[in-house]
Amino acid sequence: MSCIFCKIVNGEIPSSKVYEDDKVLAFNDINPVTPYHILVIPKKHYDSIIDIPEKEMEIIAHIHNVINKIANKEGFDKKGFRIINNCGEDGGQEVKHIHYHILAGKKLPLYEAEKK
Ligand code: 5GP
Ligand code: ZN
Repeated sequence: MSCIFCKIVNGEIPSSKVYEDDKVLAFNDINPVTPYHILVIPKKHYDSIIDIPEKEMEIIAHIHNVINKIANKEGFDKKGFRIINNCGEDGGQEVKHIHYHILAGKKLPLYEAEKK
């Protein structure tokens, strides 16, 4: 049974696409917390960063390159943005298909963990 993001990749569930190539898909988060809240995922399913074998790690560099392209295209490259990858239970990962959140369009508060 495929996961919710695999269903978005294969079109079973609709999404608002921001970028697509043969390896990566980016789409708007259904529940945005910032003016721009985009999710970037590999089309191939991996549960989380922990499950990506070393020899397949180039997908992460590719995702970061795609994030740069999106930042330039959407115009938040100059003011900045935040990339978040939640991993596992303690990391607060709800969807078990690795994804990077791009948050942009407002000045972001510090993380909880960074607060003294
Ligand atoms: P996580 O907590 O796993 O890092 O983040 C999962 C994210 O996926 C959440 O921000 C949530 O709003 C988003 N999300 C969950 N289901 C869907 C969906 O069906 N479509 C879209 N576009 N986003 C989703
Ligand atoms: Zn999946």
